Amino acid sequence: MAIPFHKELRIGAYLMKQKLLGRKRYPLVLMLEPLFRCNLACAGCGKIDYPDAILNRRMSAQECWDAADECGAPMVAIPGGEPLIHKEIGEIVRGLVARKKFVSLCTNALLLEKKLDLFEPSPFLFFSVHLDGLRDHHDKAVSQKGVFDRAVSAIKAAKARGFTVNVNATVFDGHPAEEIAKFMDFTTELGVGVTMSPGYAYERAPDQEHFLNRTKTKQLFRDVFALGKGKKWNFMHSGLFLDFLAGNQEFECTPWGMPARNIFGWQKPCYLLGEGYTKTFKELMETTDWETYGTGKYEKCADCMAHCGYEATAADAALTNPLKAMWVSLRGVKTTGPMAPEIDLSKQRPAQYVFSSEVQKRLSDIRRDEALEAQQKASTAA
Ligand code: SF4
Ligand code: SF4
Repeated sequence: MAIPFHKELRIGAYLMKQKLLGRKRYPLVLMLEPLFRCNLACAGCGKIDYPDAILNRRMSAQECWDAADECGAPMVAIPGGEPLIHKEIGEIVRGLVARKKFVSLCTNALLLEKKLDLFEPSPFLFFSVHLDGLRDHHDKAVSQKGVFDRAVSAIKAAKARGFTVNVNATVFDGHPAEEIAKFMDFTTELGVGVTMSPGYAYERAPDQEHFLNRTKTKQLFRDVFALGKGKKWNFMHSGLFLDFLAGNQEFECTPWGMPARNIFGWQKPCYLLGEGYTKTFKELMETTDWETYGTGKYEKCADCMAHCGYEATAADAALTNPLKAMWVSLRGVKTTGPMAPEIDLSKQRPAQYVFSSEVQKRLSDIRRDEALEAQQKASTAA
């Protein structure tokens, strides 16, 4: 999730505090996934390939608030699955806003118009609507016709009710720069900000052919930004992150910058990769072997340029090197000339395929918890 410009002061103060306290690792955005169930089945999705017993699980409102308190990040993004399916979503969001967290509710918008009454406009709340491109492209990406029109109608309805709305686009290989540029023009007309990230190559995504590698990602973003020169596109990202996407910054990822909490617990090491879970946020921070993750260190990280890994790096870079950040914002993103050196992949450790064993572990935990619950109910009733 990106950092909205008008929140920058508050976020800046939080970052400064972490620096002054001498903290090496701290979270910026909590990625809270209260459920994995979704009402779409997008080809590039790596989040919904679970058995029903897992898709039917929900985090309670209290668990969501506890996660936000425990983590302490100033922002909370609620992806999923589809959060609007969660029966307590209105309450969850209210509790987070009451804690003065900036909440980004990420939704495919199929239910948004119908559920607007659950929410109140607030400077702490914004909807982040999944829109991967213009009508034909988006409907193809989400494998269902008519979704684009419903999402756009919901965006207009939410804006008319005073909510802040952004769109959240994932870019895959084969999406021409000219079309992405037209999509950006469209979002400008619609009056919404945009977060845009290259799709992470989830090993469980049905479509494995269209994930971008880093070289293609950088060239594509350069081409898009070149087409946007002089236009007032509203990217909700820091200038340094955009400059990184265009191949001008040599960044390493910050996997703890956007920690993920879901129905399994705290996910190791990041929102994109699930290689184990902990019960507490403290345990996540203290027991994850952070040095073994990131591009150049681990095969599964080789092509990652996603904002949940690198936006926190860009925020840190802006803080430690404000002149560089200022220079990028004055100059704009460079779209020609040599790129920053790429990270060497020759020493990365091979991928470990732990998805199936993790799912089995979680299923046995769920069955054990359900048996315990049933026992407790039976003894209370007796
Ligand atoms: S809307 Fe999001 S969570 Fe649902 S299938 Fe598509 S990518 Fe996955
Ligand atoms: S590069 Fe970083 S953010 Fe990307 S998958 Fe690897 S650990 Fe996660």
